[in-house]
Amino acid sequence: MSKVYNWHLGREMDYPYDAVYPERQFAFVFNINRCIACQSCTMACKSTWTFSKGQEQMWWANVETKPYGGYPQHWDVKILELLEQANPGGQSWSETESGDPKKPYGQFDGKTVFEARGPVLTPDSSRVLGYLPTDEEWNSPNIYEDNPVGGRGVKGQFHKTGEQLPVHKTWFFYLARICNHCSYPACLAACPRKAIYKRPEDGIVLIDQSECRGYRKCVEACPYKKTMYRGNTRISEKCIACYPRLEGKDPESEGAPMETRCMAACIGQIRMQGLVKMGQDGTWAEDRQHPLYYLVHVAKVALPLYPQFGTEPNGFYIPPRWVPREYLRQMFGPGVDGAIERYNNPDRELLAVLQLFRKSNRIIYRYEIQEGPRIYEGELRGKKVTLYNDTIIAFGRKGEELFRTTLEEPIHKRPAIYANSI
Ligand code: SF4
Ligand code: SF4
Ligand code: SF4
Repeated sequence: MSKVYNWHLGREMDYPYDAVYPERQFAFVFNINRCIACQSCTMACKSTWTFSKGQEQMWWANVETKPYGGYPQHWDVKILELLEQANPGGQSWSETESGDPKKPYGQFDGKTVFEARGPVLTPDSSRVLGYLPTDEEWNSPNIYEDNPVGGRGVKGQFHKTGEQLPVHKTWFFYLARICNHCSYPACLAACPRKAIYKRPEDGIVLIDQSECRGYRKCVEACPYKKTMYRGNTRISEKCIACYPRLEGKDPESEGAPMETRCMAACIGQIRMQGLVKMGQDGTWAEDRQHPLYYLVHVAKVALPLYPQFGTEPNGFYIPPRWVPREYLRQMFGPGVDGAIERYNNPDRELLAVLQLFRKSNRIIYRYEIQEGPRIYEGELRGKKVTLYNDTIIAFGRKGEELFRTTLEEPIHKRPAIYANSI
């Protein structure tokens, strides 16, 4: 085992290989508050990459209703239980949120899937703690969709209590998921064939189909269960981050890097994907005007999914505002309270950056804000708010302007000739 630095955990951890970092890393932010479970992302991926024979149960992109839903079923509860079993009572965080990008969420003192291996594993799977889901668990990717926690309602009546922020008594939320193209992938660590690799140019994690022999060690090891076995070819497959689009090979993009299919299709405008600059120590290099750097390290509203697993996932989530905090802290770590507080009371820059989501399918490398006039003054949850109609400009890889948008949505008046048409 080597020692690598995991900035999500604020400490070094064990990993089977030495650390190697790409120049830029594929990363994304999903704003859970906006997801409507329309499943457009799910179908965009399915219809592009997994529509063939043998891939019927394979959903690289999925949206599950938490807390009961899961694909495969109960994937997160099962891995949390295995970790608890390996380290009873020890899966906790010390220290608190800090401004230090090397340990923004404090320090995790428990064991990761790499460190908890051993006590509960068989010898031939000793690199990573994990489990192999049954065929039944891969059924029904949207099982329990829209099932809330809370008491039963009365037929024909609205709830009269319990729907006030900060926490609703009756709640659920949609968790959209793809492979996190982790910095320390558990799938890669577990593969005895070394068939899984991380691309140096963008950190995308791929399975070499000619090397894979279908041992399913990756399926067992990935704590997010994002590698999947295909029965008719007897090899494993996973999300490829739509790499031809990132490389600018989609005919529509004219050579410019383009966001993935699941991002571009998002109706709720919850998704932003990018390529962040990496430092040689494994943390993100400072890039103040990059929208993902801003959301994760400056505004600190977007948090990693289950950072305690230890793979350093590159998917970040703006947590849902109405959900009990204890549940969210388990899922996103100790940064939850601060993230929700800042999202609830956004400053001028955060409001502007949130307008960048899904205005284009080109990858944004930098943004600028041009200040605009004051358009509103009032009170929100007991605090004074002032809104300005700022213009936010997005730039691409070569510094070219991709688009500009304003805080206030423009109103388009249809000419009278169309008044009665749809
Ligand atoms: S999410 Fe799973 S499949 Fe994807 S890189 Fe991480 S460990 Fe591998
Ligand atoms: S990035 Fe591409 S391959 Fe991966 S889940 Fe999204 S659409 Fe599917
Ligand atoms: S397309 Fe967007 S809004 Fe619809 S389910 Fe997927 S992530 Fe949610």
